[in-house]
Amino acid sequence: MPKVLYKMRIKVSFYRLKVKILNLFLFFQIGMIAIIFAQPNTISNFNKSPKLIILGTVQDGGCPHIGCTKACCQITDSTKKVVSLGLIDFEAGKKYLFEATPEIGNQLKYLQGYSSKNIGFQLDGIFLTHAHIGHYAGLMFLGKEALNASKIPVFAMPRMKSYLEENGPWSQLVKLENIVLQSITDQNQLELTPKLKIIPFKVPHRDEFSETVGYKIIGPNKTVLFIPDIDKWQKWESDLIQELSVVDMAFIDGTFFSGVELNNRDMSTIPHPSVQETMKICEKLPASEKNKVHFIHFNHTNPLLNPKSSEYKEVIKKGFHVARFGEEIEL
Ligand SMILES: [Zn+2]
Ligand SMILES: [Zn+2]
Ligand SMILES: [Zn+2]
Repeated sequence: MPKVLYKMRIKVSFYRLKVKILNLFLFFQIGMIAIIFAQPNTISNFNKSPKLIILGTVQDGGCPHIGCTKACCQITDSTKKVVSLGLIDFEAGKKYLFEATPEIGNQLKYLQGYSSKNIGFQLDGIFLTHAHIGHYAGLMFLGKEALNASKIPVFAMPRMKSYLEENGPWSQLVKLENIVLQSITDQNQLELTPKLKIIPFKVPHRDEFSETVGYKIIGPNKTVLFIPDIDKWQKWESDLIQELSVVDMAFIDGTFFSGVELNNRDMSTIPHPSVQETMKICEKLPASEKNKVHFIHFNHTNPLLNPKSSEYKEVIKKGFHVARFGEEIEL
């Protein structure tokens, strides 16, 4: 073969190889783009820790509170919403809610803000603590008159489950399969996603229609305790100090700061531990343990709803925290 021809042949095969590599590269790029747009758990969500988001911090009645003419309810503040937590596992592409409050519409909208724009409405389950209005009444918005949801899993304890099944309007949500009730039981761990585990546990409370539970929300790096409502720590079969020692953070009942809010009523007759009582119980703990405590579920009268109050400053000074709307916790 003449030398010139041989050289040309080499050039052509080299050119072909270059085209092949380029094609392969383009194919890979298109594939990646397709994956990113097709799935809710986008590439950027891999290895991202699950997140807990505070969607509300106020007691059942909300703020402004119906009928209240006092200074606490003079201004409408969009960050003062009834107690609720949002839970997102980015990798699994799942979103959950703790509590279905009467403000569920706004709270879900806020949670939806964590999704990419091309993803429509998504809710993969709701965990309920008990049948008091602030904690479950929002379920009504899942029915025909509003969302007309399809088979949203609602996790409920045995009494709570039968209460919803046997009483309208909740029974209609079950019958029309707007919701699908999922049984949970005291102390039994639920594997929600490969990265999230949930443990419900019973707490003493005014249980007219259902039992009351708190939750342990367990992520790959952090465990969070959630007890929005409890009668008194002394009535609980578990010990607050001990329970704090096995978690990383705790969002606990801070309904009333003290008896002052209730015209100096004797706090021992009020079925909630006041913030003062809880701080007293935790008084001798090291700073690292106090640092875990975040008060939540504030009555409209509670001065902790005002970051400028002396009570708020006192809580912070003593080494505890006040839960804030929009706060994010990486699990
Ligand atoms: Zn409550
Ligand atoms: Zn008020
Ligand atoms: Zn309650």
